[in-house]
Amino acid sequence: MGTPTPIRHRCDTCGHDFPPTVFVCPTCRTILIVPTARNKTPGWVIGLLVLLIVALAIYAAMLAYQVLVLHKY
Ligand SMILES: [Zn+2]
Repeated sequence: MGTPTPIRHRCDTCGHDFPPTVFVCPTCRTILIVPTARNKTPGWVIGLLVLLIVALAIYAAMLAYQVLVLHKY
């Protein structure tokens, strides 16, 4: 308990500390879920998704417009 590691998680089953990169407790083999990962979705992920969807929509609209115009003329 004297390790200077800044961030450590604790197993809820056996109370052992484990590094944050581990998903299974090395002591009791309980499958662990990092609590910070499922609590909230990062804002930049949502922004990136919205940007991607908008970009795809604009691209599809431009493609459809070009196809329609080329088809007409
Ligand atoms: Zn454990």
